[in-house]
Amino acid sequence: MKVRNYGDVVGRILETLRKSDHLTVWHQASSAPSYPLLCLHWTAQQKSSPLIYVSAGIHGDEPAGVACAVRLIEMLADHDKHNPFPLNEYNWLISPCDNPYGYERDIRENAAGLDLNRMFETPTQCPETAFIAESLQRKQSARVEKLNNNIIEEKVTIELALDLHEDSDSDGFYLWERRTSQCLPIGNMIVKNVAGLCAINRKPLIENHRNENGVITLLDKVTTKGWTRGRYLAEQVNTRCLILETPTQIDWETRTATHMAAIRTAVKSTL
Ligand SMILES: [Zn+2]
Repeated sequence: MKVRNYGDVVGRILETLRKSDHLTVWHQASSAPSYPLLCLHWTAQQKSSPLIYVSAGIHGDEPAGVACAVRLIEMLADHDKHNPFPLNEYNWLISPCDNPYGYERDIRENAAGLDLNRMFETPTQCPETAFIAESLQRKQSARVEKLNNNIIEEKVTIELALDLHEDSDSDGFYLWERRTSQCLPIGNMIVKNVAGLCAINRKPLIENHRNENGVITLLDKVTTKGWTRGRYLAEQVNTRCLILETPTQIDWETRTATHMAAIRTAVKSTL
């Protein structure tokens, strides 16, 4: 049974695309025509600004991430110039709803019954993960310049990746921080900033992983979570990744605001 309409997400994004030519979209009609997969790209005034990747809704029953990603797209296009920390000065790649079928039905899996966040060993096996991998690869090789008749292709690095999730078993916010041992941790800073908005899950163990006051660290090559997007980003894209989890049992506004606050703090702390 459908509980949400993916058409509303697409409608808001199409509306926003008309507002700014800094915002562009890649889309794939996919096998189901009513579920076009979208990936938005925001180009900052300074093209050399760092690139941030935000993704949401790979699990259809975790909708606050999708709401936050759509809000973020709208905020970028509305040019929040007066904000002391304007996010539109960065480049963004935003994948706002990676599992439209699950999103409409409030289920974790896609139409084929697959948990898409375990399919990244061979992302081409599902249309949704194939599109995610393609968007990431396309973006990374997108900066091509012509210099003295020579084509210079510069590899674009994603400085920070944020994957927005929710957890129905948790009574508070927590995050997974996937990084290399050389990379400075920022998870604690995010939890500290979010704590004023949302309760924090401080249980010592979450899904058999050590939780330190809301931060579960996945250092270097951790395979215990299977082939998630986080692992794909770490191993194939060489990007640090934060997987943010809000508790679905609390109110909607708090969950979307918590995701937004976490994104802002992560950007501030990394870049
Ligand atoms: Zn999830």
